[in-house]
Parts: sequence; C-alpha cells; structure tokens
Amino acid sequence: MSAKGSSGIATSALHDADVAIVGAGPVGTLLAILLGRQGKRVTLVERWTTAYDRPRAVTYDHEIARILATLGIDSENDPAIEFHDELYFWKNAAGEDIQIVDWQSQSASGWRVRYWFNQPDLEARLSRIVDTLPSVTQIRGFEAVDLEQDADGVDLRLRRNPIEDAQAQGHQLIRAKYVVGSDGAGSFVRETLKIPSHDKGYFFDWLILDMIPHNEMVISPAQWQLCDPSRPTTIVPGGPGRRRWEFMVLPHENAEEIAKEESAWTLLAPWGVTPESAVLERSAVYRFQARWAETWNVGRCVISGDAAHLMPPFAGEGMCAGLRDAFALGWRLNGILEGLYAPAVLDSYTSERKEHAKHYIHFSQELGKIICISDAEAAAERDRLMKADLSLRNNLPLPTDVCQLGAGAWCANTAHAGELSVQGVVESDGKRARFDQVVGTGWILIGLDQDPAVALNSAQLSQLRALGGRTVRVGTPGSSCDVADVEGRYHRWLSAIDASYVLLRPDFYVAATARTAADIRQRFNEVMASIHVRTETPLAA
Ligand SMILES: Cc1cc2nc3c(=O)[nH]c(=O)nc-3n(C[C@H](O)[C@H](O)[C@H](O)COP(=O)(O)OP(=O)(O)OC[C@H]3O[C@@H](n4cnc5c(N)ncnc54)[C@H](O)[C@@H]3O)c2cc1C
Repeated sequence: MSAKGSSGIATSALHDADVAIVGAGPVGTLLAILLGRQGKRVTLVERWTTAYDRPRAVTYDHEIARILATLGIDSENDPAIEFHDELYFWKNAAGEDIQIVDWQSQSASGWRVRYWFNQPDLEARLSRIVDTLPSVTQIRGFEAVDLEQDADGVDLRLRRNPIEDAQAQGHQLIRAKYVVGSDGAGSFVRETLKIPSHDKGYFFDWLILDMIPHNEMVISPAQWQLCDPSRPTTIVPGGPGRRRWEFMVLPHENAEEIAKEESAWTLLAPWGVTPESAVLERSAVYRFQARWAETWNVGRCVISGDAAHLMPPFAGEGMCAGLRDAFALGWRLNGILEGLYAPAVLDSYTSERKEHAKHYIHFSQELGKIICISDAEAAAERDRLMKADLSLRNNLPLPTDVCQLGAGAWCANTAHAGELSVQGVVESDGKRARFDQVVGTGWILIGLDQDPAVALNSAQLSQLRALGGRTVRVGTPGSSCDVADVEGRYHRWLSAIDASYVLLRPDFYVAATARTAADIRQRFNEVMASIHVRTETPLAA
C-alpha cells in the first residue's frame, strides 16, 4: 500500500473517482500517470502489495521509447536501458541464418527500433511517478470482485486479497465515472463484462531464465534465436547487467520438472553459464498464447493490455501493445472527462487498437512458427524453405514494419494517416531536440514552409485551441518558422507524399495529411467529427 493509499481501512469505504483502474502492471500504471498528470481523480487498484517479480518483458520498440520520453525517460541516455547496434538473427542447428530481422536501425519515428530493459525496474519507476501525483490514490492488497455500471457511472467492489492475508477482512466500494481493466490475461473486468475472446489455439510452454553474470558477458550475436529442434532457444539481452535465456519445453517434458533450479543450470551449462559465473535471478515456465478480446469498450468500462490481447513474445511486442493502449486511452479519457469529446470516442479505441494489436499477434505467431519446431524432419524442411527465401532477398533483414491503426479517428485515403508520424530533430529558441520534446504533444497541425494557422478558418482554429491543440510552422533553418527542420526530415517526408500539412493526434499518430489548404480544412472537419468533438464552435469548411 502506498503512503497515499488506504491501508488503514479495514471495513467498507467509498471512494469517488473519475477513473478506477484495475491492475497496476505497466499498462494500468502508465494510464494512471497520463490521467493523474492532467489532474483526473484516479484510483489504481492492485491485488498485490508487492511488485510482481517474475521474468517477463526485456525489450520495447521505438514507439514505446517515444511514449516514455514524454515521462522524461530518455531510452538513449538512461543507465537502466540499453541498445545493441545489431540485427536479430534466427539460426538453424548448424548455425546458418534462416531469418534476419532489422532490430538495428533508427526508425522513422525518431528512436532506435529496439531497446532492452528490465520489466520490474521499469514498473517500479512508473510507480514512483504515480507516487508524485496527488490526484491518484493507490489501493494495494485489494482485488476487484464485482462491477456494475449504470448510465452515470460504475460501482466497483473490492475485497482484501485473501491470499496475501487470510486473517484480514475488508471491502471497499469505488464509484467511478469510468473503469479500466488493465488486469492482465485472466482479466476480471473482461470476464465480468462477458467479452468473448478470439483464441488462435496457440500454446507452447517455455522456460524463461533471467541471469545476472558476475562479469560482463559478451555474446555474439547479442540477440538471436537458435532454431534447433532438439532445444529451441532464445538468447537475448535482459537490460544492463543482465542476460536472458529462454528454452522451449519439449513435448515429452514436464513443465514443473524443468522449472526446477537444477534443470536451469543443466540447460545453461552448454552456454558456459554456471553458478560460479552468474546468478539465476528469476525463472518461470510460461505458456505462450495468441488471442484477443472481441471488443475493448462496453459502456463506461474499457479493457487494455494483456486483458485485451495476448501474444507470444518472439517479436517483443506484448507490453508494447499494452502501453500503446494506455496512450490511446489517455487522451480519449482525459478529453471525455474535460467535456471535449463524447464518450463515443471510445469506440475508435477498440476499432483502432484491436486491428493494430492483431497485426502483432499474427507477426509474433509467424515468428513462433519458425522456432517452435521440435521435429527434426519438419525443421529440415523449414530450414530449406527459409534459407531459399533469405537468399532470394540477398540476405536483407526484414525491415521494421509500418503498421496502420484500424479504422477510427483518422482520415482514410490520405497518405500516412493512421500511421505513427515521422519525427525529426528540430530547433526552436536555441533548443535542438526531437520534435516531441521541443513542441510537446497534443493536436498539432504542421504546415511545411507555410503558416498552418492561415490554412484553417477561424472556427476551426478556435476548435483546435479548445482541444489544447496548436499550429506549428516547420521551415528550413534560417527561414521564418516556429521550428527549424535541422535534419531536413520533415521536408523529405512531406515531399515523398506530396503534402504540405499534417494533422497529428495526441498519441503521435497522423490524423490527416493534405497538399492544399482547402483539403486540410475539409479533413480537419472529418477528424473532428470522428472524435465526436463537443466544443460548441460550429464547423465550416
Ligand atoms: C516470458 C515473457 C516475455 C515477454 N517479453 C516481452 C518483451 O520483451 N516485450 C514486450 O513488449 N512484452 C513482453 N512480454 C509481455 C509483457 O510482459 C506483458 O504484455 C505485460 O506485462 C502486460 O502488462 P499488463 O499491465 O497488461 O498486465 P500485467 O503485467 O499482467 O498486470 C496486470 C495486473 O493486474 C493485477 N490484477 C489482476 N486481476 C486483478 C483484480 N481482480 N484486482 C486487482 N488487481 C488485479 C495483477 O496482479 C497485475 O499486477 C513478455 C511476456 C512474457 C510472459
């Protein structure tokens, strides 16, 4: 229980909240920050008093680096985060490459494609940020057990977690305007709302081992998969000072037996890792699954993170998808609570995020199909096909994919809309940094070498400002502009798609692009309609 929490309350207590979040994993905690920073009254409920300490995520992508940067976490220069300037190799038992993925380059969104970290460290860090937010109440050691919604709000009933303390009793009732279930794979919120899941019927058990080597352990390649049917193995960094090994549990093996410490050391021995050279920090057997919930919002209740989707970790995207959910929900819930958007904007949360997450579920499952093969003949056939395919593309790595949101709050049929925006380094008032850090986030209309405020009519400008948005003229260094495009990235991007205007959303996604002022005026109105904007100003093209 946090200092601000309610540890002293043993009997029924009533809390009023704008948003009650069930589950203080990375997703629920990020959402609490995004709402709490805007002064919303948030109650964050977590069934455990201590942090979850089993091995899970070790890597995140450029979009998450971009999100974390808004919290002041700089993935490029942070002692708890590392990167490896290397590709991601998939090798067969003979050590030949059968697949190569680009985990090396810079992404168009301004950060490296991949970073490595330790999930409990990141969660603790997010929790510390929550501790600084006066409008967020944390209730730890209680679990949500009942949920009922009506037209005005949701009653969420909690009881003290009997597993933590069998003697203690206590119930609490929260009346919240909205409830978000960030309560993991077995989500109580999802189950109570009777939301069905689409299950891909994909199950593989893997033993996960987090190691702290006594001395620096240089492993080359730094991040790779050994697709050996006799023991499919993942060898990756685990954040600064750590390494991760993952071993597939073979069909004839017993998951409980293999989870024992002595089995871990037996499996690690061929890698030269022994109790003399490293500490086994955490170990666990996980069942990798692939599924998603059919809808993510029902009335005043929403689900996010593992509650909404599960994927095998081969693409390192499960937590990333959940943090994107939190970011996509943050601006919507803040806006609904401020009276800017109608609650219907939550429908686009489901339609956009579900399709995006399904893309990564599919991609992770395809990667899983490569490695989760324990039959020697099937592995030989896989090797033959994949080597031929790799050689056809001259051993070029699979590029970082650009994934579009499902239909929602963006203009279909305009170039790059529904995609994460390109980001470059800009300069303004002597400050040179990435665009997000110089300009900030929110609804932003960029005009390239022209004043975007002139492109909108006065009603639209008022509406943009009512949403806390702004216009930004991006120009060449030395020209009259709000920010200078010091790397030329915005000029290259917009010239490639023949556009002069870009409308950015608060989650960095492109809402619309346009070549002419008339087009951006029309698309601005379409976007405002799609977010069910509630500002009184009448719209006129
Ligand atoms: C082996 C492994 C490796 C992985 N590697 C990666 C990776 O490299 N990169 C990546 O992006 N992802 C990875 N993932 C996925 C990632 O760890 C998860 O997607 C992420 O932790 C999900 O976060 P969450 O907040 O949605 O859920 P969780 O972290 O599961 O948090 C849910 C919280 O809700 C609480 N809770 C549940 N029910 C209740 C209730 N009724 N009342 C109160 N509290 C409740 C739980 O106690 C828990 O704290 C990996 C997963 C595994 C298993």
